Amino acid sequence: MIMFLVNRYHQVLFLFALCSLLGSCSLWQEGAADKQSPESQTSTHNKLEVEMFMGGFATVNSFIFSNGKSIVVMDVQRKTYEAEKLVEAIHARQLPVTHILITHGHTDHFTGMPLFRKTFPNAKIVVANEDIRQDIKAYAIYMDGFGATAAEPPLEPPLRVKSESNPDGFDYENYIGILPENRLTLDGGGTLELTTDYKEAEAPHMTTVYSPELNALFLSDFGYNKVHHWQGDDISWEDIANWREELLRIKNEYISRNPAVYPGHGDVTDMRMFDEMVRYIDNYTRIAKSATSRREAMAQMMALYPDYGEADFFLKYSIENHVKETGAPQN
Ligand SMILES: [Zn+2]
Repeated sequence: MIMFLVNRYHQVLFLFALCSLLGSCSLWQEGAADKQSPESQTSTHNKLEVEMFMGGFATVNSFIFSNGKSIVVMDVQRKTYEAEKLVEAIHARQLPVTHILITHGHTDHFTGMPLFRKTFPNAKIVVANEDIRQDIKAYAIYMDGFGATAAEPPLEPPLRVKSESNPDGFDYENYIGILPENRLTLDGGGTLELTTDYKEAEAPHMTTVYSPELNALFLSDFGYNKVHHWQGDDISWEDIANWREELLRIKNEYISRNPAVYPGHGDVTDMRMFDEMVRYIDNYTRIAKSATSRREAMAQMMALYPDYGEADFFLKYSIENHVKETGAPQN
């Protein structure tokens, strides 16, 4: 993962700083809209900025949108210790947090919710629709069902569903609000346009965000940049085919605007990422369906993508999901 962090893509508008702590790394990036425009330099109210916080665990991204008056946070990390670092980055801005937007129901994007609820009691934790709220709750229950043999529980205990027997648990229906419309306007200016009409793919329901002020597209987990795609136990071949189809649809939709592209995992990039991901899906599908063993599939994918992150995590479990140890090709 360190190697992966060192070889990152650079963009003129983005400022890099590398922080390493106890073997895990996080990277902050910052971008400001219309830096050359005289209006935006004099008016803090219209200057929307985004800071990307890259978690060390699972290479998952969170985003801090701010405009000099308020902050909206998107996704809150897989581990509370990573969410704590995200909180520090937010505190450094000394602005009120109004909303914490969770894009979809996977633990690497929502584990920090109890910490954020406690740290920012005036901020609303929100999702784009009821389906996503239910996905989050269902995934928490699913993760909690993985036995207690591991040294570390798969679901952090504050996320266990609140009930009579667990009064300190998380009350998903009451702690997570639903946005009344598919846009989030920051207090002080700046708009995030939300899109959710996607087929079931990397998750049953997904939110992507476009910022016109930044001309930036935030793909959440439709986007993986030089990180192996998550195609583990909850991702079927049909989901993968849907994912491919939606990538091409999103590319078509935004190509004329040529936005900066922020994936859910991996570094900021540009519109070329869509074709790279489609190629990855095609290679993965071909290899997983023709391999006679998991080891063979893993070796072929590693040979094709030697510099991709999360091979021991995302790729390993994806192959376990799609390659059966039959000694014969899969199809
Ligand atoms: Zn993710």
